[in-house]
Amino acid sequence: DAAAARAGAFLTIDLAALRENYLALRSRLGGRACAAVVKADAYGLGAARIAPVFHEAGCRHFFVAHLDEGLALKQALPDDCAIMVLHGPMPGSEADCAHAGLVPVLNSMEQIEAWGGLARALGRRLPAFVQIDSGMSRMGLPEADITRIAATPDLLDGIIVEAVMSHLACADEPDHPANAEQLANFRRRKALLPDAPASFANSSGIFLGPDYQFDLARPGAALYGLNPQPHLPNPMKNVVRLMAKVVQTREIPAGAHVGYSWRFRADRPTRIATVSVGYADGWLRSLSGRGAVLVDGRAAPIAGRVSMDSITVDVTDLPPEAVKPGSLVELIGPDQTPDAVAALAGTIGYEVLTSLGNRYHRRYL
Ligand code: PLP
Repeated sequence: DAAAARAGAFLTIDLAALRENYLALRSRLGGRACAAVVKADAYGLGAARIAPVFHEAGCRHFFVAHLDEGLALKQALPDDCAIMVLHGPMPGSEADCAHAGLVPVLNSMEQIEAWGGLARALGRRLPAFVQIDSGMSRMGLPEADITRIAATPDLLDGIIVEAVMSHLACADEPDHPANAEQLANFRRRKALLPDAPASFANSSGIFLGPDYQFDLARPGAALYGLNPQPHLPNPMKNVVRLMAKVVQTREIPAGAHVGYSWRFRADRPTRIATVSVGYADGWLRSLSGRGAVLVDGRAAPIAGRVSMDSITVDVTDLPPEAVKPGSLVELIGPDQTPDAVAALAGTIGYEVLTSLGNRYHRRYL
């Protein structure tokens, strides 16, 4: 169609693979509930299109980071879902959170006081998750505050504690001593709070086994095909395919240079294809001179710096008819996963996915 003809690059999201990943994670939970973490626009892949797929697969708990993400998600989901806001309401936005029917994660005494205060002002009890810091020192109540609440339960007046939760720092390293330490801290600290369901495991946490799973798991990354056990073969289905079009090709003589800073110098007569994807599209600049794109399954190395909107690729060894203006090359897919691209770029698959940007022609299949 015309939009596809105009497009420089395509991002294809496999909804069936997303559904399979959700069901595969849930099947590891022995009947416990499985939420979906869809913050940062479902890790860059499009929360409004993706969250309903998880809902159809039976998911009823969704996590976002920001209140505005929750407000947008509310429009995309039926009313039988709980949408939790991981950062809780920013000061002054508690009423917006309550009116929208979003469930804040209360991370601090300040957030507890503000949420309880609003509940008392409205004359009704308001639901919330309460986060415990079990050892990551990022968000959640430290032990001293939990002890205070245990001594003065009135501090939670007006608040329906729907769950207590915490987050693991090192779950992708199963042998890391932090895992057992955080588990012990979580168990001890949550026993001081009102008895409520517990939520602890992210994607990798699910794979640490039943002790870590509690009542509600909170996977994100593995839903989107990232490997929850980086030291083992990936059990998840790849979800993303990134293809970009060749803008033009050129022949350069030995000794010619390519791209910013002249980073690539041809050591033989070379055919260069310029491809319509760059760091503004999340093809990270740290991939300059690293890795390759795939043309009909054959690798063509990236030559020189990644530009904002384009990359240059050495296609000398490919048949000329395979690489012409408008030809598609593959950058991410089952044969070059987001995790593999991340390893080349010196980052993690999460950053590759959330960097993808909004300039693609997106297709949800
Ligand atoms: N829970 C919390 C509090 C998070 O911040 C995140 C993401 O960082 C998740 C769950 C999901 O983690 P993962 O994407 O590793 O499954």
